Amino acid sequence: MDTKWIHLDLEEFKKSPLSEKVQAILSEAAELLKNGELVAFPTETVYGLGANALQDSACQKIYQVKGRPSDNPLIVHVATLQQAQQVVREWPEQAAICAREFWPGPLTMVLPKNDLVPSVVSGGLETVAVRMPSHPAALALLRAADLPVAAPSANISGKPSPTEGKHVWQDLNGKIPLLIDTGKCAIGLESTVLDLTSETPCILRPGGITLEQLQAVLGKVVIDSTAQNGAKEVAVPQAPGMKYRHYAPRGTIIILNADEDKKTQIINGLRQKRSGQKVALICFAETAELLDRKILDQIDFLFELGSLKQPRRAAGKLFESLRLCDEKAINLILVEGMPESGIGLAFMNRLKKAAGANGNCITL
Ligand code: AMP
Ligand code: MG
Repeated sequence: MDTKWIHLDLEEFKKSPLSEKVQAILSEAAELLKNGELVAFPTETVYGLGANALQDSACQKIYQVKGRPSDNPLIVHVATLQQAQQVVREWPEQAAICAREFWPGPLTMVLPKNDLVPSVVSGGLETVAVRMPSHPAALALLRAADLPVAAPSANISGKPSPTEGKHVWQDLNGKIPLLIDTGKCAIGLESTVLDLTSETPCILRPGGITLEQLQAVLGKVVIDSTAQNGAKEVAVPQAPGMKYRHYAPRGTIIILNADEDKKTQIINGLRQKRSGQKVALICFAETAELLDRKILDQIDFLFELGSLKQPRRAAGKLFESLRLCDEKAINLILVEGMPESGIGLAFMNRLKKAAGANGNCITL
């Protein structure tokens, strides 16, 4: 299959009325979705691989194309509250509060599903995950298709999530008919997944909306233990997706502890390098400044996440940096950790999963 890769300026989607060119692409994409085909599109978190959420066979294709295990459920994307309420059996007060505060935005709510949603979408569960994205292109596409759209991240299962159109192209070229590309995703980490089916709201996956933000409007919110221990495999995960390999580059990852001396840890990390291996260091600008020539000479690829003072920006670059390590055939990847509060919880969750996934994470 030929993949049509369309580049559009994000600003084009903010105009009213939309240009004829943009409308034509949206109609084409909407037609594909209505006909049970897949469309990759940008969201503010990462790129999504969309299918008509109400059509069993269309959603099956998502699993085939991604190589995704069938019990790992999909997030249903909606453009309106009515659309969200169409796919759930209950709309509790907490959902109304979260929608008012955080939608459109990077919060996914898990609620009891209704019969319109095929079980392939929910991975066989009686619940469904729903999100209203804020990205203008995603919203325009959802409106044009006039359908709830199931869309996991548009990567091959197990690889770092795509934060740029070219990442989707690298993974899915030839496997899908259309990729809409508007450049880099603003957040660069997946949405927060919040389970609202139990008495106390529970974060199944930390993400763009933080624990602190949720607590401010909901009161008590707990974090599922597996969401904090990314590397651990659990026998009975709360969300099926939690147990799988995720976000993994090919190289071995060493996580540098945020609270210990950075330079010492980097020197210790470099000792793990075997002859002929290539090493990358992914770190904050403040840490990069501490490095002397002797250390720099041993590093084949230095990726700066930007300043520690802008943790959201840094977190949004993690997947990009891990993908670049694969492109550069890096064997050993030293990544600077951050404190596990605010967006740091999501950053560390992805990093621990990436490190643990290939089973050869080194702890200093
Ligand atoms: P992705 O779209 O690739 O970021 O993955 C979606 C994630 O959302 C899955 O890995 C699950 O952890 C979570 N999820 C989706 N549906 C449900 C559900 N019904 N219950 C719990 N978690 C869910
Ligand atoms: Mg994913």
